Amino acid sequence: MDTTRDALRAACESALAYLDSLDQRSVAATASLDQLRAQWLKPLPEDGEAPERIIRELAAQADGGTLASAGGRFFGWVIGGSLPAALGADWLASAWDQNAALHACSPAAAVIEEAAGAWLKDLLGLPPAAAFAFVTGCQMAHVTGLAAARHRVLAAAGWDLDTGGLFGAPPITVFTSAARHATCDRALRLLGFGRSSLRFVERDDHDRLLPAALDAALRQHGSGPAIVVLQAGEINLGSFDDFATLIPMAHAHGAWVHVDGAFGLWAAASPRQRHLLRGAAEADSWATDGHKWLNVPYDCGYAFVADAGALKSAMKAQAAYVTHDDRGRDPMDWNPEWSRRARGFATYAALRQLGRSGVADLVDRCCRHAETLARGIGSLPGAELVWAPTLNQGLVRFLDPRPGASESDHDRRTDQVIGAIAATGEAFFTGTAWRGRRAMRISVCNWQTSARDVERAIAAAASVLDRS
Ligand SMILES: *Cc1c(COP(=O)(O)O)cnc(C)c1O
Repeated sequence: MDTTRDALRAACESALAYLDSLDQRSVAATASLDQLRAQWLKPLPEDGEAPERIIRELAAQADGGTLASAGGRFFGWVIGGSLPAALGADWLASAWDQNAALHACSPAAAVIEEAAGAWLKDLLGLPPAAAFAFVTGCQMAHVTGLAAARHRVLAAAGWDLDTGGLFGAPPITVFTSAARHATCDRALRLLGFGRSSLRFVERDDHDRLLPAALDAALRQHGSGPAIVVLQAGEINLGSFDDFATLIPMAHAHGAWVHVDGAFGLWAAASPRQRHLLRGAAEADSWATDGHKWLNVPYDCGYAFVADAGALKSAMKAQAAYVTHDDRGRDPMDWNPEWSRRARGFATYAALRQLGRSGVADLVDRCCRHAETLARGIGSLPGAELVWAPTLNQGLVRFLDPRPGASESDHDRRTDQVIGAIAATGEAFFTGTAWRGRRAMRISVCNWQTSARDVERAIAAAASVLDRS
């Protein structure tokens, strides 16, 4: 037991030292690729070592190779931090080492998912009877929701996927927009859809699907199996599709509607932002993340499916040695995985730490900070506000000051400034291409981001623009 105690104590001390350093440390990694490789890419040791020593050395060696995304000055991609209760619960999930496959292998892990699943549906405004799965992230939530979709639309066309598989099945057409997240494509690919199954529906100037264009596309398609993939929170603009118009339209044509709400579904938790999701609860499946806006540690997404039978038909698994429990909920009947981490504990703890009002505050606060950042940076000399945030995502661009500079000069300048801001260690943003031009994305998801962090980030951008 002493070696366990020593290892955990070392981990706890290192973790606390790391978290205490977040306010001062560089947000960008400080170790080079060569340094990281030189310290770790070594022959497999012949003999074992003391756990405590490994942990202390690992903490010291990894330090410079981490991004301070756990802290409040990180605005790259779409990345949240870890709430204290969620982090603590996640540590316990590791210590307990529970397998969340079956109720029988961990009654606690199974029942906490029932509790957290019900809370999530309540908070996100989803139907109370919807089935759910705790998955690795929104990518697998797409796979889960779209697997249920595939099963159901083929069944409606008289095809039994369990028996016939996809070979020879009636073709399914997927209607979506060119602004969909790339994880939707990969989920579809894993499920046997090729690019030729996708129909891209025209967008408006906010990158939202045009209802008239979807209607025309569905009419042209006729009565064959169809899935419509909509977005709650587009990755560049934070835009939301017009669910109240599009979903009834898709349903009138017999299509299944899947919503990518990786971060945007959390707008439902805020009375201020909820209007963006009007009509979204009528969809058939929804995918979202816990590790982004809910600020639970990584490896946490959620899939919800209104028709519980559709999800169960797509996921259920049986084996002679598996002990199913007909009173409890067996997570593996709803999830794409078999053995897996007990993800429910961290979600449950995060929701209890914040409560309904705390999640609303977190969402509103992040939106406010995103707005301040976008306007603050966008109004600096040499910068341009490309898109003021709809929710918590916005875009700015940096202009090459030379007379006669071209759009590609501005593209280069934008990427250069993004890199230079990261090099200050003060703040971290990432780039994107939007309408063929480079832009810097502003994304705020972390529970720790404060007004002071926002000031520091704007000051870092100002200093970079001043100097160069
Ligand atoms: C992050 C994101 C995803 C993918 O989620 P993962 O948790 O990385 O799998 C999908 N869609 C949108 C809009 C996202 O922001």
